[in-house]
Amino acid sequence: MAKIDRRDFLKAAGIVAAAGMINPAQLYSAEKKRKAGTPVPELAPIDTDVVIVGAGPSGVPAAIAAAREGARVIVLEEDFVPGGAPVDMYVAMLCGTPRVGIYRELIQLLNRKYTTTGAARPDFGLDGSNKKNHWYLPSSYIMAVTEMMGREKNITLMCGAHVSELLLKEKGNRNRVSGVVVDRCGRKQRIRAKITIDATGTGLIGELAGAPAMYGRDGRSAFNEPIGVELPEERVQSCTWQFITQALVPGALLPWEKLRWKGMVEDNHGWLREPDVARAGGLYLHWGGRFECKDTRDPVELAKTQAEALESLRNDFAEYHKAGYKVFLAPKIGVREVRRIKGEYVLAVDHLRQGLFPDDTIAISNYGIDAWGEHIKKEDARVKSYGIPYRCLLPLGVDGLLIAGRSISGSHLAMSSYRVQPIVASIGQAAGTAAAMAVADNTDVRGIDVDRLVSKLRTAGLFDVKKLKK
Ligand SMILES: Cc1cc2nc3c(=O)[nH]c(=O)nc-3n(C[C@H](O)[C@H](O)[C@H](O)COP(=O)(O)OP(=O)(O)OC[C@H]3O[C@@H](n4cnc5c(N)ncnc54)[C@H](O)[C@@H]3O)c2cc1C
Repeated sequence: MAKIDRRDFLKAAGIVAAAGMINPAQLYSAEKKRKAGTPVPELAPIDTDVVIVGAGPSGVPAAIAAAREGARVIVLEEDFVPGGAPVDMYVAMLCGTPRVGIYRELIQLLNRKYTTTGAARPDFGLDGSNKKNHWYLPSSYIMAVTEMMGREKNITLMCGAHVSELLLKEKGNRNRVSGVVVDRCGRKQRIRAKITIDATGTGLIGELAGAPAMYGRDGRSAFNEPIGVELPEERVQSCTWQFITQALVPGALLPWEKLRWKGMVEDNHGWLREPDVARAGGLYLHWGGRFECKDTRDPVELAKTQAEALESLRNDFAEYHKAGYKVFLAPKIGVREVRRIKGEYVLAVDHLRQGLFPDDTIAISNYGIDAWGEHIKKEDARVKSYGIPYRCLLPLGVDGLLIAGRSISGSHLAMSSYRVQPIVASIGQAAGTAAAMAVADNTDVRGIDVDRLVSKLRTAGLFDVKKLKK
């Protein structure tokens, strides 16, 4: 296993100390003086340039990009570690392209330091032309993204910081977001920011800000789509509970024929095909089933779906144990879809099929329509390479806020294409760059020079795709 550089970690640890430090002794003495029955006082507010809610595949590149542009950035993550779905849902699979920009830096770092065998894999595709798949341990993701954010000046990461309250002002029929409120050490703290980025993957911040939130399958007429369901349905893509298995008994073989759910990836060689099970086992990443959740926004429904999923996986887990494998279940069930926030432009199937590249293209996608739980014919799922416009990041009726990641403005079917990590990472990088530009130019997210944004992203390598899909 490649050695982890201790200095990188110390630097990373420094990111929490950069801004808004709290002296625990002061907190304690203030608490002692507080009379019983009086409200807990708020902590002094913090001012920053950009606040990013969510440190997942889109939030991390957003933070790095904004910091590299010179903005002071605070990243708020509700989990105790950064990483998002690759970490808490074990979506530790690198599939999809284009691998460009900060995402490319991330997989280069993972490839250099954190492969499961310890050896760097020079054949692993670092650009869009080599589509080799690979996976990493979720803990490697934590280390890699912590290291990457730690290298940047001006990023303060707060973990265990759930956001459910915004600093919001109504102005005519528009809302202006000027930051968020977090719970910190049992106190509320306002984080006042010039620009806020919703990188939650759920669109929660966009909805709280008052932008129209879309949920479920759109009827065909909603965005004139030639495929999909006829009438709208409150159903999103199925959930999958990812897990990792490891052979603890020498020579253990995968109990392939006894399994209900067979999708898996081998430790270092891409997809596992059936004949491979004749070899002794190692470490495997598994796609655990397809489960419907009535409402992925609702914690009660999520808990129910998790219980049903466990029941459905119980037999397979028992077979793995009998065969000499340990099962490591992801801390959270994998939720593919929550809200989509309607913006100035809605990406829909025709855009993907025609391969449109609007002038405000900030990211390239070339992943097919992959709507889990919905029957889409193979030929209908094909798309060309297409551009994602900046307008998809601008929530309708709301200023001071950008949406990044999988919650940007698109139809349910279009989202099933651009939700993969390389693409949400590019969207995040674009959002961070745009936010920092707005700060530097003392304007709002709608006031920036979009041509200059596109040109900055081109220079940063976001459009370095060798071959566009036609
Ligand atoms: C089962 C499954 C399999 C998949 N397979 C693949 C695959 O093979 N390849 C691929 O590229 N993609 C795959 N995806 C898709 C991909 O993982 C996601 O679309 C991607 O992670 C989305 O990134 P994001 O940054 O938008 O959101 P997320 O990854 O969800 O990150 C959002 C972060 O925000 C935090 N957060 C949320 N709300 C709050 C809040 N209110 N306050 C503070 N923090 C908050 C979360 O804890 C999280 O860390 C898969 C997804 C699933 C579920």
